[in-house]
Amino acid sequence: MDDGPVISIVAPVYNEVGNLQELHRRISDVLDRSGETWELVFVDDGSTDGSGSAVRELYDSDPGHIRVISFARNFGHQIAVTAGMDYAQGQAVILIDADLQDPPEIILDMIVKWREGYEVIYAVRAKREGESWFKRTTASLFYRLMFSITDISIPLDTGDFRLMDRKVVNAVLSMRERHRFIRGMVSWVGYRQTGIEYTRHERYSGVTKYPLNRMLRFAWDGITGFSYFPLQLATYLGFAIAALSGIAILLVIYLRAFTSAKPLEGQATTLIMVLFLGSVQLLSLGIIGEYLGRIYNEVRGRPLYIVRETYGIDASPEGEQRRSR
Ligand code: UDP
Ligand code: MG
Repeated sequence: MDDGPVISIVAPVYNEVGNLQELHRRISDVLDRSGETWELVFVDDGSTDGSGSAVRELYDSDPGHIRVISFARNFGHQIAVTAGMDYAQGQAVILIDADLQDPPEIILDMIVKWREGYEVIYAVRAKREGESWFKRTTASLFYRLMFSITDISIPLDTGDFRLMDRKVVNAVLSMRERHRFIRGMVSWVGYRQTGIEYTRHERYSGVTKYPLNRMLRFAWDGITGFSYFPLQLATYLGFAIAALSGIAILLVIYLRAFTSAKPLEGQATTLIMVLFLGSVQLLSLGIIGEYLGRIYNEVRGRPLYIVRETYGIDASPEGEQRRSR
């Protein structure tokens, strides 16, 4: 452990074949300038486009720096990042996307802040280039919603691009939950955190691996992982509807007793009320179901990921158990 590198860079890779060489070039460039010893940990998250052999070739060309973990199938971005953190040896670990949307040059500023004594340096997206209006708006809304309904303060407009001190990495790795929202977990553990602003660029090559449904699932993992608000929503709705119906009952009694009006006649009103209440109840059940499903997943306690092979790292048979150091 003591002869490990100072800096570990963790890059999750899912079908990023066009980006890998350029990523390696720019990271080598930046890290060699920093004067620190370093390793670049690629986690191949079940790629099907030849990214697997591409990272292997990179390993052959630069075995001193490159480490490869290959998953048995696609396990998802947050799990891939976790595996990279499990295997990283550095005193500081930097998470970076493989598509060069996060410019590696920022790493130099991160290292400076780290040397000043900060334990988490996260990169804040001051500007986003080449992303649709829809993605920018929904992302911005989501971060603000998270901010208002969770009890931890997740910095606004911040992805996973960040440097973490070894202490922070170990703290985050001690949380083995399956539905991972890593930026939230890093906020949760605390420590001295600071942000630096950067411009998020366009992808260098390829397309996003986060279509709308995956984005929604990810957002939902963030919300359920750090908030009971959706569960409480059922209670709030219940109170609101009870209050409304109380008022309606009084109103109908008044109208029937003291006026000649005959309010709420006919089946349509009844039907609408039944459908309305039915849908509120189903919605509440659905929310409970979401939490229940997550509890079921956690209770089964399956490993977070399965490793098929590694390069530059001795794969321990127990896979993720390796984090204990
Ligand atoms: N990624 C991954 N597994 C997945 C989806 C994505 O390892 O199932 C990686 C992907 O290769 C990239 C990073 O996670 O390095 C971020 O994904 P992407 O750029 O598609 O997300 P976006 O930047 O569009 O939000
Ligand atoms: Mg990207």
